[in-house]
Amino acid sequence: MKAPSFITLVKRFVAGYKTYVGLNFLFNILSTVFSLFSFALIIPILNILFRIETQVYTYAPINWNDLAGSLKNNAYWWMQQFISEHGGVATLALLGGFLVVMTMLKTGSAYLASYYIIPLRSGVVRDLRQKLYDKIVDLNLGFFHHHKKGDIMSRMTADVGEVEASIMSSIEMLTKNPIMIIIYFGVLLWLSWKLTLFVLIVLPFAGTLMGKVGKSLKRKSQLAQTQSGQLLAQIEETLGGLRVVKAFNAENDVMRRFDQMNNDLRKTTNSMQRRNMLAHPMSEFLGTATIAIVLVFGGMVILDGNSTLDASSFIYYLIIFYSIINPAKDLSKAWYSIEKGRASLERIDAILAASNPLKIVDNPIPIKPFNSKIEFKNVWFKYEDQWVLKNINLTVEKGKTIALVGQSGSGKSTLVDLLPRFYDVQQGEILIDGINIKDMALYDVRKQMGNVNQEAILFNDTIANNITFGTKGATQEDIESAAKIANAHDFIVATEDGYETNIGDRGERLSGGQRQRLSIARAILKNPPILILDEATSALDTESEKLVQGALEHLMKTRTTIVIAHRLSTIRNADEICVLNEGEIVERGKHDELIAQNGIYKKLCDMQSF
Ligand code: ADP
Ligand code: MG
Repeated sequence: MKAPSFITLVKRFVAGYKTYVGLNFLFNILSTVFSLFSFALIIPILNILFRIETQVYTYAPINWNDLAGSLKNNAYWWMQQFISEHGGVATLALLGGFLVVMTMLKTGSAYLASYYIIPLRSGVVRDLRQKLYDKIVDLNLGFFHHHKKGDIMSRMTADVGEVEASIMSSIEMLTKNPIMIIIYFGVLLWLSWKLTLFVLIVLPFAGTLMGKVGKSLKRKSQLAQTQSGQLLAQIEETLGGLRVVKAFNAENDVMRRFDQMNNDLRKTTNSMQRRNMLAHPMSEFLGTATIAIVLVFGGMVILDGNSTLDASSFIYYLIIFYSIINPAKDLSKAWYSIEKGRASLERIDAILAASNPLKIVDNPIPIKPFNSKIEFKNVWFKYEDQWVLKNINLTVEKGKTIALVGQSGSGKSTLVDLLPRFYDVQQGEILIDGINIKDMALYDVRKQMGNVNQEAILFNDTIANNITFGTKGATQEDIESAAKIANAHDFIVATEDGYETNIGDRGERLSGGQRQRLSIARAILKNPPILILDEATSALDTESEKLVQGALEHLMKTRTTIVIAHRLSTIRNADEICVLNEGEIVERGKHDELIAQNGIYKKLCDMQSF
């Protein structure tokens, strides 16, 4: 792992949870210190059991220059007193009691350390999820033309889960283990610096070996997450298109494709997890090998006779050394794990870093209620390379109805999508009451508009909640009167629970006409001064089209409307009809004028009168 990126990782996750991290640190230190004390009790216990201690200690006042030495001296003195008064067994029992208490303090502190790290773990994961969700809600529509829905979902769920499982579950190791290792090493140095220096020469070999494996793990993990994203995308697509899959007898094709992707993922997972599993046995082996080396080397020093280390201290040394092995092992595992998780984090960051091309002005011009006109001035627009709209000039006076007609693909939907700034124009400008919409707050622009599109977009919720979607503070009367104007009230009360009926995914439990009337009721309730109708009736049968058309006419009466209609009879009375062809307005005028011109409009009308 590269150090700088590791530091940014920690900074990024720890910011906002500093108190927890602080407490975690504190208790980890306490826990380590307590464990040292509990191990230290081993020395006198061994000495008593094997009657090794021959020296007679006498009480000496504390010597601050050799604090440890004089504490040790007095402890031994006190213990010898205790042994001679109460006997060896009682002393052992006393030491055993100490051991229990120390261990309790140690494990208690360890628990508290974990206790305080948990809110950090869960908090970071929550923050990630929230940031991702906020981001996708905020991103402009263009982003989603380039990214599969399933892949985005996979990043929001699987990758966040991976970060939780691998990075966040390792965060604990990152605070606990280094503390333990550093403190233990300090004690080892103090016990015998020679032996410890020797250990320090041996250890890096083991470390390098471990690091090699970690590197390839991240690469594999990245591949696995990409593949599982593709898999989810395929599932998502299949669910959406199951009707077509069946109708075209394409079950086998999609199954084969899925099978292939599924197997690829399995292969990657296999090799990734096998590598992951290496961490444990490898570190155990290397750890034990190092201990064996230390045992031999240390034993040699002691058997030599002239060493400062006595046998029981050497055992204490070995115990501490052995206690380093575990945290070191965990640390290496955590390192592996983090490498794995960083692959997911990168995929998450790719979304978080996506920029929204809609530039939001810092000081938007406050708007007044719409009172004059909407203007498109020399507007040019393209999604990718080709101009989809070319030099559009259009003025919509307040209260008027403007109709856009033209062949499919001529740019009608694109033109009306520019008004609520779903996309920004590349050249020219769009003004509402003389103010460029780019200089207004996005919220203000959209507040003035109501959209009804070809596809009614509804949510899996009750009818009432679908109507009030985005409108605050509507009463039941408001909802019902909106539904009545939209010709929806009658069918709503006929449903099982009336306004409280749940309409299913995207409203699938309603007919197309009913769905559309609900979306009209929603627009009526919002009561916007500007109305955008994009082929609102074209997905409907004649019967429901009449109902919806009636509802729309109510809605249009008092408003400024831009309407795209595929049935030209419905726009006959528009104040102006603009004919779009390949992104240009080629004809404009009232119905009769355009018929008289005998151009494209006349042709379109003739085709429909059949
Ligand atoms: P209409 O509503 O008149 O049928 P559209 O405005 O939907 O036409 O589309 C106009 C042109 O823009 C078409 O050529 C279409 O292929 C293209 N287009 C529409 N949406 C996108 C998009 N998201 N990305 C790229 N091109 C698009
Ligand atoms: Mg369209």
